[in-house]
Amino acid sequence: MFTTASSPAGESSHDPGLGFGRVFTDHLTSMSWTTDGWERPQVRPFHNLSLSPATMVLHYGQAIFEGLKAYPHPDGEIRLFRPELNARRFQLSADRMAMPELPVDDFLDCVSLLVSTDRSQVPDRPGHSLYLRPLMIATEATLGTRPAEEYLFLVIGSPSGPYFNGASPAITVWVSEDLPRAHPGGTGNAKCAGNYAAGMAVQRTAAEHGADQVVFLDAHEHRYLEELGGMNLFLVRQDSRGTTLVTPPLSDTILHGITRASLLTLAADLGLEVEERPITLAEWRDGSDDGSVTESFACGTAAVVTPIGRVRTSAGEFVIGDGTPGEWSARLRTELLAIQEGTTPDRHGWMRVV
Ligand code: PMP
Repeated sequence: MFTTASSPAGESSHDPGLGFGRVFTDHLTSMSWTTDGWERPQVRPFHNLSLSPATMVLHYGQAIFEGLKAYPHPDGEIRLFRPELNARRFQLSADRMAMPELPVDDFLDCVSLLVSTDRSQVPDRPGHSLYLRPLMIATEATLGTRPAEEYLFLVIGSPSGPYFNGASPAITVWVSEDLPRAHPGGTGNAKCAGNYAAGMAVQRTAAEHGADQVVFLDAHEHRYLEELGGMNLFLVRQDSRGTTLVTPPLSDTILHGITRASLLTLAADLGLEVEERPITLAEWRDGSDDGSVTESFACGTAAVVTPIGRVRTSAGEFVIGDGTPGEWSARLRTELLAIQEGTTPDRHGWMRVV
């Protein structure tokens, strides 16, 4: 049995309507922090939290999270994909929000403890996995504006299918030309709740334009591509020099995606040229129009590699290639999933047994 947020009774990991992030496993793991430090990890049945209306996270938003997946492998083991990178990014996010640092081993122990407790609920259907959501919130109840002195770290698990429901083979994106996601010196490279709250209005505009996701531009010139609301962005360019995979460079306005880093490695393995450099919206549009940009895709833990078929802006739409998934998007997706799902040797040592 799974716990459901909105209670479609009897939903299970084998339900074709599993979707993404809608059902939860039977347990959660947690650790509390006070000024005396972290308490020991606990496993409890999945439950609602009871919080004072004065709880600081509800007012000042000290809330950070992570997202990673556990995959059932053909040898019967369950493995996590590069979880130490999530643990380290969680430390970076905590530091930016003046929250306590959680040791990498405690992060990994809490994740592993949840997966091993609920291992029977890890979906074993192709394209499915157990999405894990570690989070930390300020739990002290006071209205004073300062870093809280009590926190709760939790890990919940959601048996999940594809993030995009597969109705369309390539997504349509909306370019946010005036509202940026992040500013230099801001919180763009931290995985804090406020970044996502600030993007919701643009996500609503994108939906009004029939788009699935938002592509954000830089905050100063409104010219350079940064990333999507919850995914990094890649372009495939074809010219006289051959095929090049291009992605915007990392900075403090872009989330340092673990999928992004992994795809850069896999692309180099496949012999592709890779470039991390600034890309303008004009380059994307002109390259799509003249055929030199042959593919574009979004990537992330939830989205894996999701091809982008159409780009909508205030000035109209442009189509990438013929609007359907391209060859390199498909190859990179297949390569990555094969490692994650354990159907090819883990040549980079990325998978960690639970
Ligand atoms: N950018 C943002 C803003 C995200 O929320 C995510 C999802 N964590 C990503 C990129 C992709 O990161 P990852 O590959 O580590 O999931």
